[in-house]
Amino acid sequence: MDPFDRQKRIQGWKQDLIDEAVAVCFGVGGLGSVVSMNLCRMGVGRIILIDKDIVEIHNLNRQLLFSMKDVGRPKVTAAKEALELGHNIRSQIEEHQIDIVEKWSDVIRIIQGATVIFNMIDYGDYFDYAAQSLAIKLGIPLIQGGTFAQSMCVEYITARGQPCLLCGSDNAREEIIDQIRPEEILELENLNFLPKNSNPIGQSNTYLCGTCGMLMTAKYGEGIINSEDAQISNRTLFYVNTMESVNFGIEPKIGCKFCKYDA
Ligand SMILES: [Zn+2]
Repeated sequence: MDPFDRQKRIQGWKQDLIDEAVAVCFGVGGLGSVVSMNLCRMGVGRIILIDKDIVEIHNLNRQLLFSMKDVGRPKVTAAKEALELGHNIRSQIEEHQIDIVEKWSDVIRIIQGATVIFNMIDYGDYFDYAAQSLAIKLGIPLIQGGTFAQSMCVEYITARGQPCLLCGSDNAREEIIDQIRPEEILELENLNFLPKNSNPIGQSNTYLCGTCGMLMTAKYGEGIINSEDAQISNRTLFYVNTMESVNFGIEPKIGCKFCKYDA
């Protein structure tokens, strides 16, 4: 019996594309736990987990792959173990305990062949732009999410990369953006020059992270079901306290330095 029989029955489902997919997870925390579990259950061919952190006690309220025994262990190691024990069907799972910002050139080497990037790093807007630039250069979709108190934002940028995350920004510093353009992004040794957002310690729980990770995976699945030509880069906001959501296309900016949007 085929473990994927029930999903193959979904209209438009393309299991062959999922079988061959190579999914990169930047971060295996609250969102990455859920996304990587889902990728296993969908049968994604190769899942590349990258995270520098170790499991800390305050992660356990929401980072579903970890339990008390994992405190003090590398997140990628604990995550791979939990996935293999509890969720994996056929995926090849790779763990890389790497500081993505400091070891960018290693990341570039590790993710060769990637077909999608899930950006779940809580570093800041400029790191998100760098991830966007990389996805544009590789011609693959970028999916990212974040939770903010009782709300969340999930973004899907198509493999065409137009419009992109940078299109939606009016105040990104040119001298930083110029260093991480798609023309440059594969050549950088590190991203230490990127400004880091100084966010307060996040408010989060298991259903905020879980829902956001589920929505990210849903965007991935729907991106495969619907042909690329029919896709537009989009953003979804979901408010847990009112259960309201709003979905809209990302606003393009003519002449964007990343996606060269030209209407
Ligand atoms: Zn753009």
